[in-house]
Amino acid sequence: MPETKAVSTLDNVVVKSPNDRRLYRVIELENGLSALLIHDPDIYPEGYAADQIDEDDEDGEEEEEDSDGSYEDDEEGDDEDDDEVEGKGDQQTKKAAAAMCVAMGSFLDPPEAQGLAHFLEHMLFMGSSEFPDENEYDSYLSKHGGSSNAYTEMEHTCYHFEVKREFLQGALKRFSQFFVAPLMKTEAMEREVLAVDSEFNQALQNDACRLQQLQCYTSAKGHPFNRFSWGNKKSLSGAMENGVDLRECIMKLYKEYYHGGLMKLVVIGGESLDTLESWVVELFGDVKNGSKIMPTLEAKGPIWEGGKLYRLEAVKDVHTLDLTWTLPPLRHAYVKKPEDYLAHLLGHEGKGSLLSFLKGKGWATSLSAGVGDDGINRSSLAYVFGMSIHLTDSGLEKIYDIIAYTYQYLKLLRDASPQEWIFKELQDIGNMDFRYAEEQAADDYAAELSENMLAYPVEHIIYGDYVYRTWDSKMIADLMGFFTPKNMRIDVVSKSIKSEEFQTEPWFGSHYIVEDVPLVLMETWINPSEVDNSLHLPSENQFIPSDFSIRATSSDGDLKSQSPPKCIIDEPLMKFWYKLDETFKVPRANTYFRINLKGAYGSVKNCLLTELFINLLKDELNEIIYQATKLETSLSMYGDKLELKVFGFNEKIPALLSKILAIAKSFMPSLDRFKVIKENMERGLRNTNMKPLNHSTYLRLQLLCKRIYDSDEKLSVLNDLSLTDLNSFIPEVRSQIFIEALCHGNLSEDEAVNISNIFKNSLTVEPLPVKSRHGEQITCFPLSAKLVRDVNVKNKSETNSVVELYYQIEPEEAKSTRMKAVLDLFSEIIEEPLFNQLRTKEQLGYVVECGPRLTYRVHGFCFCVQSSKYGPVHLLGRIDNFIKDIEGMLEQLDEESFEDYRSGLIGRLLEKDPSLLSETNELWSQIVDKRYMFDYSQKEAEELRSIEKKDVMKWYKTYFKESSPKSRRLAVRVWGCDTNMKETQTDPKSVQVIADAVAFKSTSKFYPSLC
Ligand SMILES: [Zn+2]
Repeated sequence: MPETKAVSTLDNVVVKSPNDRRLYRVIELENGLSALLIHDPDIYPEGYAADQIDEDDEDGEEEEEDSDGSYEDDEEGDDEDDDEVEGKGDQQTKKAAAAMCVAMGSFLDPPEAQGLAHFLEHMLFMGSSEFPDENEYDSYLSKHGGSSNAYTEMEHTCYHFEVKREFLQGALKRFSQFFVAPLMKTEAMEREVLAVDSEFNQALQNDACRLQQLQCYTSAKGHPFNRFSWGNKKSLSGAMENGVDLRECIMKLYKEYYHGGLMKLVVIGGESLDTLESWVVELFGDVKNGSKIMPTLEAKGPIWEGGKLYRLEAVKDVHTLDLTWTLPPLRHAYVKKPEDYLAHLLGHEGKGSLLSFLKGKGWATSLSAGVGDDGINRSSLAYVFGMSIHLTDSGLEKIYDIIAYTYQYLKLLRDASPQEWIFKELQDIGNMDFRYAEEQAADDYAAELSENMLAYPVEHIIYGDYVYRTWDSKMIADLMGFFTPKNMRIDVVSKSIKSEEFQTEPWFGSHYIVEDVPLVLMETWINPSEVDNSLHLPSENQFIPSDFSIRATSSDGDLKSQSPPKCIIDEPLMKFWYKLDETFKVPRANTYFRINLKGAYGSVKNCLLTELFINLLKDELNEIIYQATKLETSLSMYGDKLELKVFGFNEKIPALLSKILAIAKSFMPSLDRFKVIKENMERGLRNTNMKPLNHSTYLRLQLLCKRIYDSDEKLSVLNDLSLTDLNSFIPEVRSQIFIEALCHGNLSEDEAVNISNIFKNSLTVEPLPVKSRHGEQITCFPLSAKLVRDVNVKNKSETNSVVELYYQIEPEEAKSTRMKAVLDLFSEIIEEPLFNQLRTKEQLGYVVECGPRLTYRVHGFCFCVQSSKYGPVHLLGRIDNFIKDIEGMLEQLDEESFEDYRSGLIGRLLEKDPSLLSETNELWSQIVDKRYMFDYSQKEAEELRSIEKKDVMKWYKTYFKESSPKSRRLAVRVWGCDTNMKETQTDPKSVQVIADAVAFKSTSKFYPSLC
């Protein structure tokens, strides 16, 4: 190794929260690369000793994927929990992580090969001189409890990973080679173009992506905005066909910009800063030397021509109005954040706000404003300030009026001149958020900080996002000068565009028309003659907390923090769980409530009336909830249960809950709000299942859950419901309830009891008896079941098909974690080979994943592939082929690799919760599932120690091998618009096709309800 040294080293320079125990060091290498090293003492809480590392390097085959089982309401989720110390290495620990941000992105795509920067990002994963295997990096991470990801922005590209703590150095070795000597083999390039193309096909039917691309496409020719940054087969392979040497282009891009001067690295480990420094110096010293001057972009004139209105045809049934103003770049003014002042006011939802006014007119349902976080909105060229309004049907007819009122509000802001007290509120909130920030997952944190290294000076790498240091009213006033009709772009996105003469955006193929905004309107907007009386500045926020005292008393919280929540109230009306936080010691608390409502899920009509009620209640509560800035509130329905969550800074929780409950108790909706909310729900139901992946999950749950109401049926019943129906239903549904709750965080037991009293005092209702509470039952598939459900995509232009192959295992056994342990381990072992085979090698599609599914406590396992290239019959065949190969793969798996997977999984289970919120969510899931095993992950980790390879083999043979009677499966196939269901004629005879979900369930058996 060439001995490079860090040319500079800065300790204690990065401003951090007094609560932050991590140590930060910034170094710079000779090649210009700067790195932020973070020592996190929680990674090795027992203390780090160099000899406990059994150095890296074993080899094998595995790979990552950021699997996402999150389409479900009530399924799966990774677990972590508390644990006790039990022998070496069994303590709660955290993962190590790293991220590299390179200051180049899609703005530097050559016009003849668009999407090249994104493609380059993909190619770095495909092997390096030192580690030539295509999946070496991901395989290494997967074997050691890690994962990775990357993304390409307009002016930077970020790569990040996390891994079990003792494998950080090994992972960095592989990672560093991305930036030293990637192979970029032609043959891999040809295949990976398909992955980029599949990724693009994922975005193809997404309205937000279509709008962004329309904005790029209609920007001034020659401007850096005028491009197609996703990349697809046409832009990349097409370039090759046009004689462009793609490999040469990609190498040129790499050579020009992948050098130390443009690289920002973040490494988070449990080792000392000196050790981390020596690793970085050794591994990244070979990165090419380069200048720190950022790539310059040529941009002349405005991005868009003023005075135009674009109407874009939507995929979903939505109406949105987007107003866009171009501001100068404001990165240098980050200590003033003038754009946030304006975003705060234009996006306000309280009394006197623009949204409140537009809602009063029945024109809008929601509004957001500000400069988006992504690279197109915040670049070195411009800050793009957007205002996005969701419209009702009648709002769609009033576009110009809405814009006129927007300019009235802007006039109000101008006339009132910038107010320092509003800035002070933002400042207080920023400082509070910084002081008591909740920790994120290590890899997200690393990625965020590496991006920040490009944006802020060293001392503000963390604080830069939060700081509001200097009040500059002139700067705000100047900025308001940019909010003119001439500097505004208008986009209306809606399902129906009323013209035959639409134009077509070439990459997405979306339809749009351009209109000229009448000049006389533009002139009245510039200087409105009056401002409507109901528009005014917000009043002072009474909900900003000022009491940050901590309830925890112990100085060493370790033992207490592992005690489970305590049941402090157990009565016919309510059951309250309580836990004082002694781990994080922040002034935050999370209070969650599940409220069974009488008959709320008894029929499709009741289900809809309940949803109407809840949505109207949310609408009614909006202004109050919005004022409670530092508290999050959510209201949602699960079966007959209303879930209310209020969480954040704890001081104002009781005050907010009192207000919410007082309104909930007596609220009766008005006719005009009823109409708006009903219209919104109808739209929501029409948009359900437009995405094939959501659709396949929905279809599976429809067959699994005994009582589930079909979205089309709901739509037709909803159509006939009136306010009278609702008003007679509300007193009934409110008459009997049962509450189960968790209060966790910075609350004393008395305070938790107090919260329960708020419920008792506000609601004078009868307890809902156990037998009247809804419990879901799950279909029990017959032995050897081979079920198939075929459905066409709901969106007629959707080219993606999906196959979701679900194997039913068994219901959970009481107090046992064994089945879950085997399932998770099985998943851990096969995930990367599945990805490597079906995505990297066969290129079936962008989404290739598998994982456990827990449906109301019945275990299952899913394989899922989404493809725009192949039909469901082919996809299912390829999945089947892979499943057959698992047996041989398991047989060949050596003991050492098996042990890696097992200890990787144990490490993951014993990982420390990064934040109070994630701990609360873990505890809450035990309550929701009525399992109440608050040490579930710890138990599962213990169980894993006794699981051997032969157990996994046996389990595979029992539940997956075709000849086993316990192998019971359901293949949901969603057919893309270019496929033909006639292909099912080749299905084997043994398959049972389910044509009608209701008929199928009427003859099915069900497991007893567990939750
Ligand atoms: Zn990608």
